[in-house]
Amino acid sequence: MTRFRRTIQSAKGWVYPPVCGSCEAPLSTDRQLKLPFLCEGCEEALTPIGDDYCQICGQSYETKMPGNFGCVNCGGRELAMDFAVSAYRSSGMARELMHAFKYGKQLPLARLMGTLLERVWSDPRLHEVETWLVVPVPLHPRRLRERGFNQSRELALEFIRRSGTPDQERPELKLFPSLKRIKHTVRQAQLDRKDRLRNAVGAYELKRSVRLPDGDGIGILIVDDVITTGTTVSECASTLRRSFELDSVAAISVMRG
Ligand SMILES: [Zn+2]
Ligand SMILES: [Zn+2]
Repeated sequence: MTRFRRTIQSAKGWVYPPVCGSCEAPLSTDRQLKLPFLCEGCEEALTPIGDDYCQICGQSYETKMPGNFGCVNCGGRELAMDFAVSAYRSSGMARELMHAFKYGKQLPLARLMGTLLERVWSDPRLHEVETWLVVPVPLHPRRLRERGFNQSRELALEFIRRSGTPDQERPELKLFPSLKRIKHTVRQAQLDRKDRLRNAVGAYELKRSVRLPDGDGIGILIVDDVITTGTTVSECASTLRRSFELDSVAAISVMRG
């Protein structure tokens, strides 16, 4: 039996008892509350993005980069967001879990992914606004029908839900689903770097009658499941910047391709 098939079977046991989304080990209630659907052993197999990453596109490095000086990913490119931060590297089991969530349609894994995403709060720049308007990267309506849900929206909802506890001194988060995808293309994951850069251009549009709420200290926070080149989130940022005067536009993702 393939791993994927086993994961689907384990999905049937989501409610009780909870099991690890990767190895199917049963999880205690405490564990399930701390990190839903992931056992200690599998958590250790994840590779967090360390403290050192490109201060523009979030690409991880051995040492911190001043700006994007010499960044192999974004050096020489203009990105429309101020910065991007990712939580974990997309490899091995992390990648399989993300695939099970997105393509295996295992919606309950949104809880795990949204919890993993919380790691980005370690970047102090995310604490510099009063309110983030959270913009999930939209799917084309046709893709949404195929998949049944937009993984970025589910992640954003979980991320917002988890930061609602009053003892955490964090900016306020408000869902701001202001973009739509107007270009239907093949999945980014199937494209090479050059095509990825081209594929996203002109892909997004502002939804009709979207207004920015009044107030100071408001920034835009774009949420995606995986950031690879940063082109998708940059295109979203640029679409928003064409319509609004924005001081801060940042992007976050659970994983870094
Ligand atoms: Zn496990
Ligand atoms: Zn970079």
